[in-house]
Amino acid sequence: MPPTMTAAVLRYHGDRDAVQLEQVPIPEPGYGEVRIRVKACALNWLDVGIRRGPKFGVIPLPLIGGGDIAGEIDKLGPAVGDGVENWREGDAVLVYPLLTCGVCEFCRRGEPTTCPQHRIIGEHVDGGLAEYTILPAANLIAKPESLSFVEAAALPVVAMTAWHMLMSIGGLQAGESVLIVGAGGGVASLGIQIARFAGATVFATTSSADKAERAKALGAHEVFNYREGDWVQQLLDATNGRGVDLIQDNVGAATWPHDLRALARNGRLVVCGSHSGTTFPLDIAQIYHRQLRILGSNGGTFYDLTRALALVEAGHVRPVVDTVLPLEQIREGHRLLEEGEHFGKVVISI
Ligand SMILES: [Zn+2]
Repeated sequence: MPPTMTAAVLRYHGDRDAVQLEQVPIPEPGYGEVRIRVKACALNWLDVGIRRGPKFGVIPLPLIGGGDIAGEIDKLGPAVGDGVENWREGDAVLVYPLLTCGVCEFCRRGEPTTCPQHRIIGEHVDGGLAEYTILPAANLIAKPESLSFVEAAALPVVAMTAWHMLMSIGGLQAGESVLIVGAGGGVASLGIQIARFAGATVFATTSSADKAERAKALGAHEVFNYREGDWVQQLLDATNGRGVDLIQDNVGAATWPHDLRALARNGRLVVCGSHSGTTFPLDIAQIYHRQLRILGSNGGTFYDLTRALALVEAGHVRPVVDTVLPLEQIREGHRLLEEGEHFGKVVISI
């Protein structure tokens, strides 16, 4: 019998019971790969979507999910260690979660997020919801010493996504105004901090007074409760009827009609998700009359992640951890995400 490890395995798409703890063989790293002793792995909405069944494409099952990984290098595979000088066994790392081909037109123009071969660790290949995982050495980033493993795991997906949305795609400039939709989410919690540090006036929406206070503590100037009254009117009042220059939204059909009202003329709506739905009736005339721009954002680049981590290392941005759970409570982690009462990341400690 080969040595085994505990892993959270998805064998079919379905409800929370579809994720099951199993004993599986400890994997061996191949060429250019490393084996990571996983210390922490954060959950994302993507993990819920994968469990329920994909909107696009096919997910290979069985699958060990989890793309937000922090841990220690356990074993270097062939060609790593011989030819690569920068990693040693025992090094503490976090992980850039996208796998791209590196040679297509889109990779070479610096937009690997649009690579046709683009895959996500924990979605298309096994991820970090296990004691060990195998990863390409090229995806590793040294863990900042100031961060715990739980804090480090809370960062990669949301930090690269927020940076890509606001800075790389949205082109945020100092002095602009920004609306962060759904301040309790992980991407939003980073977006508030990045936008504030970038010199923007930051507005946010959320669902409770408690979350509003937490969003303000992260740097939001004003927070609107979308369950109380017409928050778009409140935002327009707060901006002398002008609206905001840039909106970061990962909610989708439930919030877009309000976002379009809340945008200033020439405003940009940047979208990276649609878990509330993907379609709604759109008045096209308002797009051209007010010269609005709708911009898609798909994950983030290695460079986006390193830029965001630089702000973390400098103390300007911090990971926001809501709950830490052991691997045995992985289904509770899914429940917290599905019920939306968290503020920041739900992290599995392994
Ligand atoms: Zn490519």
